[in-house]
Amino acid sequence: MIATTQKPFDEIIGALEGYEKIAVIGCNGCAKVCMTGGDEQVAELAGRLRDQGKEVVLEATPDRTCYVDNTHATLDPNLEQLKQADAVIVMGCGGAVQITRKVTEDYGLIVPVKTALDSVGHMDTLVSGELALEQCQECGECILNETGGICPVTKCPKGLLNGPCGGSENGKCEVNPERDCAWVMIYNRMSALGELDKLKRFMAPKDYGKMAKPRTLNIKERKVS
Ligand code: SF4
Ligand code: SF4
Repeated sequence: MIATTQKPFDEIIGALEGYEKIAVIGCNGCAKVCMTGGDEQVAELAGRLRDQGKEVVLEATPDRTCYVDNTHATLDPNLEQLKQADAVIVMGCGGAVQITRKVTEDYGLIVPVKTALDSVGHMDTLVSGELALEQCQECGECILNETGGICPVTKCPKGLLNGPCGGSENGKCEVNPERDCAWVMIYNRMSALGELDKLKRFMAPKDYGKMAKPRTLNIKERKVS
């Protein structure tokens, strides 16, 4: 999931300065899991905006706002309310915000689309409802097959590809001793799989050109460019 945190309310109000009629759009996907943009948080933000004297003309929460079809499915029946808005605030990841902007453009609306959240990475829930841990940086050249399904690009703060640095101690990372060293985790996993010999292979430097943004995925042709 794309993990998000809520911006401070002062920043949200600042982004909406000069706009009085507001549509609040959430996301019942990742942002719901992060408790930053599900139905509950949309209602809460709408209430706080009303307390500040704003008129909330629409509250809506697509299932996954980063899916253009989902966002259309939720907003199409609410188009008349959306048209009244002089600003839209989205409680979703950066993708959700930009898809919402695209959908407003599809309707021919010229309306500012703002974000209420900060996107902080591709994470998965470690402890349900409490803690999410970054798992993948979408490097475009996945090496999980060689590392026992544990990503050193993401989980080692130095992104080391061929074993631990000299600072690993008692299985912990020198950068954050509360975390396990990614390479100790990889070693233990490969050991459990009986595949330690595979760690002797040299891992060539990654082609970070494959991380150059923005990337495009042609879904039909399965090609990234
Ligand atoms: S190697 Fe790259 S694609 Fe694979 S999990 Fe790590 S960052 Fe993601
Ligand atoms: S201690 Fe392990 S995880 Fe931490 S920086 Fe060194 S190799 Fe990477």
